[in-house]
Amino acid sequence: MSKKLLVRVMAVLAQVEIEERYVNGGDKEMVHGLRWPGKIVINPVPAIVDSIVHECLHEIFPPETHSDRAIRGMTTKIVQKLSDDEFKAIYSVFKSRTKPSP
Ligand SMILES: [Zn+2]
Repeated sequence: MSKKLLVRVMAVLAQVEIEERYVNGGDKEMVHGLRWPGKIVINPVPAIVDSIVHECLHEIFPPETHSDRAIRGMTTKIVQKLSDDEFKAIYSVFKSRTKPSP
């Protein structure tokens, strides 16, 4: 991405109304965000749950036998099958167990 485009993105970020909340994607894939003119909604749950599953799989499978690519593949398979309630449950555990950064 060009620096100029990034500057424009940052300008929009500074101006647009932003809401952070869970968005139910229904039967379709998880919704990461929505947009209306002048307003964006960001759902952090899918990205965070994806990272949680990925890193926990690294805890289970050693790097000697499981490449990052293999872990990514397993992550995708697990996350694709998660129900709305499972997404929320994993995110909830994450929020309750996360230490604030120093
Ligand atoms: Zn990894």
